Amino acid sequence: MERATDLQRAQEALAAGQHKSALREGWRAVGVGLRQRDSATINATLEIALMVAAASEGKVHGDAEMLAIYCRNCLDSTGRVIESQSILDRLSFRRKSSRRQCPDCAEEIAAEARLCRFCGYRFDSV
Ligand SMILES: [Zn+2]
Repeated sequence: MERATDLQRAQEALAAGQHKSALREGWRAVGVGLRQRDSATINATLEIALMVAAASEGKVHGDAEMLAIYCRNCLDSTGRVIESQSILDRLSFRRKSSRRQCPDCAEEIAAEARLCRFCGYRFDSV
């Protein structure tokens, strides 16, 4: 079983304190989880990523958080695997709230906003 192997390797590496290998195997496991639309594997990988993030610093910590975000963004609010998403969407922190710049005062405001909260500039209806 491909998926058991990747996930097990990640869990074993985590148990052995080998955080980098745990993340490397974790990325493989989540990839397989996505292909097989297996939310259990993705959730298990998320747990590994969170444990590595809690136990590490620096670059490894950053990588672990990236994997955790990726895993979270692979699942919808009911825990089902989201299929139609780009890698960029999966890696983004704010999935929906995109920003744009006010043409008048150049502050960043919500893309849906019709009134700039900084200078009061009004956008034409979007
Ligand atoms: Zn403005």
